[in-house]
Amino acid sequence: TRPTRSIKYPHGCVDDNNTATGTSAKLSEFFGANVYGINELRETLPKPVFADLLRQMAGNKIMDKPTADAVAHAVKVWSMERGATHFTHWFQPLTNSTAEKHDSFLSLKYNSEGGNLAVVAFDAFSGTQLMQAEPDASSFPNGGMRSTFEARGYTVWDTTSPMFLQDGPHGTKILYIPSIFISYNGEALDEKTILLRSCSALSKAAIELLRLLGDEKSERVHVTLGTEQEFFLVDRSMYSMRPDLKITGRTLLGAVPAKHQQLEDHYFGHIPSKVLAAISEAELELWKLGVPVKTRHNEVAPQQFEMAPIFEEASVAVDHNLLTMQILHKVAHRYGLKTLFHEKPFKGVNGSGKHCNWALCTDTGKNLLDPTDKPEDNESFLLFLCAILLGLKRHSGLLSAAIASASNEHRLGANEAPPSIISAFLGAQLTEILNDVEGGQEPRPLSKVTKNVRVGGTTIDVKIATMPEISRDSTDRNRTSPFAFTGNKFEFRAVGSGQSPSFPVTMVNAAVASALQDVIEMLKQKKGNGGKLSRTDIFAVIKDLIKETKHVRFEGDGYSDEWIKEAESRGLPNLKHAPDAFKQLLEPGNKDMLVRKMDIVNESELWSRFNILCEKYCKDLLIEAKTLKTICKQYILPAALKYRKDLGAGLALFDNSVHEKKLLQNLNKLSEKLYESIEELDVGVTETEKYLDGHDGDEVKASKIAADKIKPMLVKVQFGVFGCPYRPAPERTSVSRREYALLEPRFVNV
Ligand code: ADP
Ligand code: MG
Repeated sequence: TRPTRSIKYPHGCVDDNNTATGTSAKLSEFFGANVYGINELRETLPKPVFADLLRQMAGNKIMDKPTADAVAHAVKVWSMERGATHFTHWFQPLTNSTAEKHDSFLSLKYNSEGGNLAVVAFDAFSGTQLMQAEPDASSFPNGGMRSTFEARGYTVWDTTSPMFLQDGPHGTKILYIPSIFISYNGEALDEKTILLRSCSALSKAAIELLRLLGDEKSERVHVTLGTEQEFFLVDRSMYSMRPDLKITGRTLLGAVPAKHQQLEDHYFGHIPSKVLAAISEAELELWKLGVPVKTRHNEVAPQQFEMAPIFEEASVAVDHNLLTMQILHKVAHRYGLKTLFHEKPFKGVNGSGKHCNWALCTDTGKNLLDPTDKPEDNESFLLFLCAILLGLKRHSGLLSAAIASASNEHRLGANEAPPSIISAFLGAQLTEILNDVEGGQEPRPLSKVTKNVRVGGTTIDVKIATMPEISRDSTDRNRTSPFAFTGNKFEFRAVGSGQSPSFPVTMVNAAVASALQDVIEMLKQKKGNGGKLSRTDIFAVIKDLIKETKHVRFEGDGYSDEWIKEAESRGLPNLKHAPDAFKQLLEPGNKDMLVRKMDIVNESELWSRFNILCEKYCKDLLIEAKTLKTICKQYILPAALKYRKDLGAGLALFDNSVHEKKLLQNLNKLSEKLYESIEELDVGVTETEKYLDGHDGDEVKASKIAADKIKPMLVKVQFGVFGCPYRPAPERTSVSRREYALLEPRFVNV
């Protein structure tokens, strides 16, 4: 018998119906307990139905009604046995989060009994209900794609993502059906539809390239994604005293505390026990939902943490990232904590990102970005690598657009996150290989190249006899690169913590798929008619690609000023302002690729995304401006005026106090300035609103005004308060705790 490992969770949270013993279990045993996954489908469906469903999931068959009915019946039985009362199509509108509308399984039958209408209640769930729903859902952002009078929108089950159960009230459960969300005309109203389109476009192009290289086995190439999620956990009672944090997600005012992250003692430090308890409980819920969370640690800023899963197929990984955010949010409540996903909740300390680890994997299980030791893999690896660089070079603007927002603007290029210039980091060894090929040298097998690297061998000698030999990774890390190769995957590091990873990944997929098509064309031309592709041909293409993509590669410090100058001379865009980045979606080269060449979006779907981004940007800034104004008028100014009065009274008694006199003069000046800057802020607000809400709302103009007239004024008002000598000490009884919380601590310790 195997010994059972006892895992004790805080608050006995393992102790529920998912474990036989109630107190101990292996993780692998309850992983996916609430998921109706492939194993559950196999076990509960008749064999031919299961086989049909598999064919449909692979895209080789359209789901027929009998199959849908059989699956619906099986999942109804499975979920009702576990307490489900409701089901919901769970979808991802263009809000960076998810949406759901619950329906119960309850149905009624009417019989006539003796002339009276008798009602019989029963539980029902049909194939049609499983496959499709029409939630109306007309109030989501749609960027002008549909008007409320043509409100029909459909949610359709995405069979590639498994259904799962979440807790409802009183021990009941709700069946979640991951879905796409489309309009009456079939246009994508959500994030998922275009992500799935981009994944299949990429698969198609990658398979075509593999065929050219002689791979006859692989049928599909999957995009794999692992999302490292950063977030803050702060004390809820302190959080609740900050209207700015509650309304805008970040503190608009306050002083940087004396000790924050200078000592770098929080990073990877011992996880505070309350936080650990909350994170473990979140992990437990996530494991049951089949989310493979793996890593947890303290991040750089005080109160900042990270969780990362094991990578999965991209669309499922996106579902799981959104679930992770929701569960963290929910569980934190139980511990008196608040989870902050804003990219920059506190000025003066690091913000949060969501690193999207991205790679390509064949259905035969081979990672196409793995530079293996086998020389025969070199050609394929280098071709895929160069195609990615080519995609990046041509469409870096799309990557910028996909990560830009009013909140991520605070983080990008702020010495803690990659700059707004999109470049790729490959590491010393790969750079050396590419240089070899570019110089016309016969490329060595990657294993040999590894041994020739300047930094030494593939192992590290720590000069301690009792320590084992340590192996060295084939690439070092570069934290400053927005798109870094890390061994066998790329890491898109500029993605914001609060956004859905869906759109950024869609844009990477589209850019790479398009580049792969071009690479295939280049290879075909070399091959000529009916000829065979020789190694020399392939390397000639690789050489051309290396030359063409060289300027998008950067190995140095992405945070440095030199890089900004260098990037400019290379002609790489530096899109610091979000509205400029959004415009990249409509730039002819990008638009043509997305709409015409790759068919990822149509023209109106693209425009709608552009409009939504601009509109969201304005609205975020408007909300910040209005919140700041309220705080200044309701809390800061009254406190300052009261203080001024107190000082004045004191001076009347002791008018020889030089310092108090100065203080009073300063206070006068600053309050006046604060009034003035609030008025200026108001001008920006009014103008932005005029264009946003005007008769023919112009989001583009509005976002430009918001960027030019609200953003700088926010800073000016903040300075008005910062420059204020008014620094209430907690012992001053005339200052409420709320006023103190507003002015003093930038963040609050757990
Ligand atoms: P690193 O320390 O280099 O960031 P980790 O092994 O910690 O790498 O992985 C970080 C994230 O990258 C994890 O979520 C992991 O699952 C994911 N990841 C690893 N390999 C791949 C891959 N082939 N495709 C996509 N994501 C991957
Ligand atoms: Mg990483």
